[in-house]
Amino acid sequence: MEDVFKQELVSELKGRVQGSKRVVITAHRSPDGDAIGSSLALQHLLAHLGVSSQVVMPDGYPDFLSWLPGQDDVQFHDVDPVGCEALLSGAEVVFCLDYNAPSRAGDLGPAVENAASEEGGYVVVIDHHQQPEDFADLLLSDPSTGSTAELIYRLALAWSMADDIDADMASCLYCGLITDTGSFRFPSVTSETHAMASHLLGTGMDHSRVHSLIYDACRLDQIRLTSYALGQKLQVFPEYNSAIVSLSLEELERFNAQKGDTEGLVNRALSIEGIRFAVFVKEDVDRVKMSLRSTGSFSVRDVAATHFNGGGHHNAAGGACPGESLESVVCRLIDLLPSYASQLQNEG
Ligand code: 5GP
Ligand code: MN
Repeated sequence: MEDVFKQELVSELKGRVQGSKRVVITAHRSPDGDAIGSSLALQHLLAHLGVSSQVVMPDGYPDFLSWLPGQDDVQFHDVDPVGCEALLSGAEVVFCLDYNAPSRAGDLGPAVENAASEEGGYVVVIDHHQQPEDFADLLLSDPSTGSTAELIYRLALAWSMADDIDADMASCLYCGLITDTGSFRFPSVTSETHAMASHLLGTGMDHSRVHSLIYDACRLDQIRLTSYALGQKLQVFPEYNSAIVSLSLEELERFNAQKGDTEGLVNRALSIEGIRFAVFVKEDVDRVKMSLRSTGSFSVRDVAATHFNGGGHHNAAGGACPGESLESVVCRLIDLLPSYASQLQNEG
């Protein structure tokens, strides 16, 4: 494991936040379990240092994440843009968690960039995605780590605050940990990941409850949408070991889809025997959004970055196509498959 938390750097950061009255914690657009879990965990950690902070998200997160300890005070930029931008422009320290480019924070991105260029603002990125952009004052990045939650945990250890991790903070960290590691399934999981989980369970947090809150809270409409998507909208390309699922706005509305309802669909497509590359394409109001997944050596990060204005991790990436129709994006995707044939047909 790369040592991104060099003692000198983390001590300096600890001193800086302890001397700050206005600390803001941000994460990426459409926050997932790791984004919001890590943000609230850091807020709990800072509170144990005697530092109060404000969590600001670009927009809302799904209902299955709406139980995290501390979430009631989160501010949302899409609800109160002026207020959130004022918080960032007045901040002495701005944390950027689970993203490494201002554009990933959506409409909050320009405020993050301003904070980085302002005299009094100090921007700290803590993230695990590849190829960070150069905008932060301090970059704590480790793409070999499976979740930002693990990095927040390592920060707590580097700050000698292991004993300050209480059950509330542990629940937030555990949420990030299980959502970004596929409940300890992905290759990024190490013995350190399990050691961290062991420590978190030792705080008295209820891991089974956390798992149920996240994964056993499906609405009937969501189950019906999933059945429809897999039953009627799944296209399989056996010659390329690939599968694509797409949903239009009309279809999403027909099933009364809510934020987060389609999370996990792409993994169902990837779980088909022999499939090495799966994509879920979704029509949004202002863009077409896609989730890409792969197994083994095939890099979906490269596909997303090269063709769909996106990025992410080697086996899990995303992209967005503003101003393009759903049909056009799906056609482009299908047309691309032959150019990746040799990589997709190889084992491993
Ligand atoms: P998901 O498919 O779960 O939304 O995202 C998978 C991974 O790709 C996550 O690590 C996420 O941060 C990243 N990702 C998703 N959408 C985008 C995007 O539009 N641009 C970039 N650079 N990364 C993305
Ligand atoms: Mn993450």
